[in-house]
Amino acid sequence: MKKIVLLGSTGSVGGNTLEVVKHHRDEFELVGLAGGGNVARLGSQCDLFPGSLCAVGTEDAYRRLTSMGADYGRRCVGYGEEAMERLILETSPDLVVNCLVGFVGLRPTLAAVEAGIPVATANKEAIVAGGEILKTKAGEKKVPLIPIDSEHVAISQCLRGRSMEEVRKVYITASGGALREKPLGEIGKAGVEDVLRHPTWNMGEKITVDSATMINKGLEVMEAHWLFDLPYRKIDVVIHPQSIVHSLVEFEDGSIIAQMGVPDMRLPILHALSYPDMIASDLANSRITDFPDLSFSEPEPGRYPCFELALQAAKRGGNSPTVLNSANEEAVGAFLAGRLKFRQIPEVIADALERVEQRDLHGLEDIFRSDREAREIARMKIGSLNN
Ligand code: MG
Repeated sequence: MKKIVLLGSTGSVGGNTLEVVKHHRDEFELVGLAGGGNVARLGSQCDLFPGSLCAVGTEDAYRRLTSMGADYGRRCVGYGEEAMERLILETSPDLVVNCLVGFVGLRPTLAAVEAGIPVATANKEAIVAGGEILKTKAGEKKVPLIPIDSEHVAISQCLRGRSMEEVRKVYITASGGALREKPLGEIGKAGVEDVLRHPTWNMGEKITVDSATMINKGLEVMEAHWLFDLPYRKIDVVIHPQSIVHSLVEFEDGSIIAQMGVPDMRLPILHALSYPDMIASDLANSRITDFPDLSFSEPEPGRYPCFELALQAAKRGGNSPTVLNSANEEAVGAFLAGRLKFRQIPEVIADALERVEQRDLHGLEDIFRSDREAREIARMKIGSLNN
């Protein structure tokens, strides 16, 4: 029985993770779960897993949860990033599953790695911002960082048993997001509802906006760089509207291996939770004849400025990926709240990349400093665009 702590249980990937755990109760035991501010959902998740401890995002959420019943008060270890660390240390699980959204996931991921606990992570923002430090710590502690992101699960499966010298190119597939077919001149006017209508995947709001701008794919390029030690020249992105092929690896002998499956997050989650083993499952079944049409093309130039900014930040290195990510988090938050137009998202990111001083990162404090500066500049820019 594998003991699991789940961070970010009330989000979309977190909910899918709980479904996988419920479906395979003979394999996995949930010993802890951490949610943000949705205490009603967190409370019902606690009810489903009576032996588990929990943590919440804020002091206010802590008050609301503990006032829902004495049992929640007994089981909740606290609020904020520190509480997530406490949850991990008190339950000492075999695996931490990180389904948090955003930079906030960096500290708890590091805490798990430092405690020698393997981490399965869907939290690409933490890898983008803290890739180098996470990789180094994980190497020192000999702790695996296991991907949950479908593209990275696909890459890891394609690479199994091969050496990195044999890899010519890794192709990360992208659906192209909700606005892929909108005429270029109309994209700027897209509202929140248009952007949240993803054609193939059903996901949380932040990542669905990130898919429409395709910054998500830029973050995934960086995630692949860190997780698989891949130089950027060996990573390419192709548009694949059907989201059936989750990524491909081309080898030096010219052969290409692709990994396929229906776009259902429970599949990569199950793979990550069972790693390095494989568990037989009937969670999602498909026949190869269900996928008669698979197409691949280059991303259209000029359609995805955020994607291009992400690739530039990746190549620049240092604190640029952190700055890009933090500015994007601010911009997406403002867009979802109706305070920023879709076409202004890349303006906010480009401004932060230009104005935050470019520096190398020498430790965690450097990352947090760049994060603070990028957010401050992004908020000012969002405010000025509003006037
Ligand atoms: Mg993905």
